[in-house]
Amino acid sequence: MQTNLLQSFRNSSVGQEAEDILRKCVHCGFCNATCPTYQLLGDEADGPRGRIYQIKEMLEGAPVAQLTRKHLDRCLLCRACETTCPSGVEYGRLAEIGQNYLEKERARPIVDKLKRQLIQSVFPYPWRVQLLVRLATLFDPLIPQHLSCKLPTIQSTQSWPKTTHQRKVILHEGCVQSVVEPGINVATAKVLDAVEISVVRTAPVKCCGALHYHLSSGKKAKQLARDNIDQWWSHIEAGVEAIVSNASGCGQMIQDYPHLLKDDAEYVSKAEKIALMTVDIVQILQKETLHLGNSSEDIIAFQAPCSLQNGLQLIGQVEQFLGKLGFNVALPENPHLCCGSAGSYSILQPEISGQLLKNKVEALDRCKPESIVTANIGCLLHLKTVANVPVMHWIELIAEKLQ
Ligand code: SF4
Ligand code: SF4
Repeated sequence: MQTNLLQSFRNSSVGQEAEDILRKCVHCGFCNATCPTYQLLGDEADGPRGRIYQIKEMLEGAPVAQLTRKHLDRCLLCRACETTCPSGVEYGRLAEIGQNYLEKERARPIVDKLKRQLIQSVFPYPWRVQLLVRLATLFDPLIPQHLSCKLPTIQSTQSWPKTTHQRKVILHEGCVQSVVEPGINVATAKVLDAVEISVVRTAPVKCCGALHYHLSSGKKAKQLARDNIDQWWSHIEAGVEAIVSNASGCGQMIQDYPHLLKDDAEYVSKAEKIALMTVDIVQILQKETLHLGNSSEDIIAFQAPCSLQNGLQLIGQVEQFLGKLGFNVALPENPHLCCGSAGSYSILQPEISGQLLKNKVEALDRCKPESIVTANIGCLLHLKTVANVPVMHWIELIAEKLQ
């Protein structure tokens, strides 16, 4: 695609990156076939090709229209479109550049802005999440049903295994997960203990920065990345072998720290090392031998998060791993389609998110599962709001069967 970006923008490193991406696009539209919003809304402007065109026009100096914001905001940033692009267009990167540019050029309506600020000032902070959930539970009868059904319950605290293995890993516990589903982290520690790996816990638990980053608050996301690096660094120097994430959205963000901190001379090399050391829990366990109790014929439906498939590029890994361990795993039709969780998307775009969730749960139900497992806290909480069977992280399934 030919481009004629604004001179001032093209001269920046971000402008150069945007131009390189745009020039790869041949406008064929293959990407529309895997785009959840295009599939749902059937509007070219709500598909990747249309969004690329809108970003291009904006970066070439066309007036920044409110309508462009509407179509870009509707993007889930799931990157399913990248999987069907024959030209290797890095749509996710371009969308971030476009959204950041739009944010600077055109102020958001005040209500929209406040909603986003509220999300950013609550969810990345574990004690605020705890307070919010407790208050909401207390005032549940006063909260509209469409909101109260989205409220998570707080799992009771479980005891962590006490281990002193030679092999050690840092576990990123996650801001929301550590409060509402702490059992996922305990299950991870138990399974790692079973393969003689100890978990190093770092406190206080810090958000990975993904929520701020995807709401165009790069400055705060960078600060959280630096805070995590500072917290982890002494343990890295002491010899931990990996940073383990059991939430694919967080793992994807941590692996992106070198890009986030590319202009930070003090932190970029540490960010590079940390990105290389960061793995999803499945990547650690694939290399180990686990002894589990009797396998069961119960069908387990696996919902593959977009961040696992398209972000971490671990497509098929969890299903195969569970299958090898003897679990009877089923996949829903169109496993590439997002469930509609997508960070804060379910709050900011409730209608589209709700429709995607409905479609996903219906597809999972057709597997006739006893339970649904997934690999990311956002998807797990989102699915739980309407699923007809228990929803859990797949690591909890394994922890239950440890001998
Ligand atoms: S598939 Fe790739 S090259 Fe074709 S329109 Fe989409 S982004 Fe552009
Ligand atoms: S990131 Fe997802 S929602 Fe956005 S254009 Fe690509 S496929 Fe569509």
